[in-house]
Amino acid sequence: MIYTKALKCRECGQEYPKTPTHVCEFCFGPLEVVYDYEAIRRDLTLEKIASRPPNMWRYKELLPLDSDPTIGKQVGFTPLRKSNRLAKKLGVEELYIKNDAVNYPTLSFKDRVVSVALSKAREFGFKTVACASTGNLANSVAANAAAGDFESFVFIPYDLEPTKVLGTMIYGTNLVGIHGTYDEVNRLCSEIAGKHKWAFVNINMRPYYAEGSKSMGYEIAEQLGWKTPRHIVVPMASGSLLTKIDKAFGELHKIGLIRENNAKIYGAQATGCSPISTAVKNKWDIFKPVKPNTIAKSLAIGNPADGFYAARSITQTGGWCEDITDEEVIAGIRLLAETEGIFAETAGGVTVGVAKKLIEEGRIPKNESVVLCITGNGLKTQEAVVDKLGKPPIIKPSLSEFEELIKNKGGFPPSADPKGGPLRG
Ligand SMILES: *Cc1c(COP(=O)(O)O)cnc(C)c1O
Ligand SMILES: [Zn+2]
Repeated sequence: MIYTKALKCRECGQEYPKTPTHVCEFCFGPLEVVYDYEAIRRDLTLEKIASRPPNMWRYKELLPLDSDPTIGKQVGFTPLRKSNRLAKKLGVEELYIKNDAVNYPTLSFKDRVVSVALSKAREFGFKTVACASTGNLANSVAANAAAGDFESFVFIPYDLEPTKVLGTMIYGTNLVGIHGTYDEVNRLCSEIAGKHKWAFVNINMRPYYAEGSKSMGYEIAEQLGWKTPRHIVVPMASGSLLTKIDKAFGELHKIGLIRENNAKIYGAQATGCSPISTAVKNKWDIFKPVKPNTIAKSLAIGNPADGFYAARSITQTGGWCEDITDEEVIAGIRLLAETEGIFAETAGGVTVGVAKKLIEEGRIPKNESVVLCITGNGLKTQEAVVDKLGKPPIIKPSLSEFEELIKNKGGFPPSADPKGGPLRG
């Protein structure tokens, strides 16, 4: 059974056949996959979902493949964890972490979009896949291309974090560093995509690729017992993930799997690259592209492709945006780690820090459910915190030296939270 009907322009509604293409010939609007929601409503029941393995493909009718997935079949269904210790610190009653820092196989939410894009690339018969990336996409395309027997080309700004570079090269991809920002990398890739017949996951494959992000929304709703949270905070680079989580909740409501959709969606950015947050907070209807300057490199897109739609999702659901300094990003990473035992990358620090700010501002109330989307793993951005943690004390292998150490209390570097561990204040 095939549930996708066509591609359709988001702006003028012009329909196109399902091919590897992403812009409208008439108005240059972005193309989106059209589904047969009537058929999905009939076929996709809660029982059917529950009977399937715990991965993102349990919602396959709502994803844009015309056959079963061939790449990334184990991706998704990451933990949604009730997070009482962090809730207490932030002053809210009901808080959950959706933890894509442990997504399979490359420890970020990008494995969701890449498994859709590469499975679709295989359907279309491509032998080579490619991407422009701020880091995590590079890791995921390289890994999944290796496992899926594709040739791959990956383009990144030359100054990404070393672990993002290493975590791409290890898979034997063709990695190219570009002297420029992500936006310049992306522009170059559009030119390359015009010349080489490759599946560029976030260019000509973008309508299919982007749909993979919806799975994070479906999972959150299922893990909450088939309802949406009242508030959800999502980090934004291009703004695609946020837009697709909104879409996912809307679809679950449309096909009757949840009774109501009353989620307010909040966007999180670092102030050093905050074009979407700035536009929303100032109620602008145009975006000012920016030149990124932040440690949150995975979110450093100065000219966000889906910024307009993300802003619309935020305002239409009654959510809001915030952005925070790099210092606050680091504090967010440490707070999440010390309260919940989850080591997130800089984007996760952005989400936690922005949630804290939105709660302090009274934008997110204290007595309604909140989900924070943690999208990437802290081991990939160690330089953000490496100088902040101090050094562990080193002693001889002697009981008396240890006893001396804990008696004096001064031997351990302080925790981020002054009321942290008993010995570390
Ligand atoms: C790519 C990315 C995002 C957001 O991406 P969008 O372009 O807004 O969909 C969020 N967090 C991490 C860690 C990412 O790598
Ligand atoms: Zn159009």
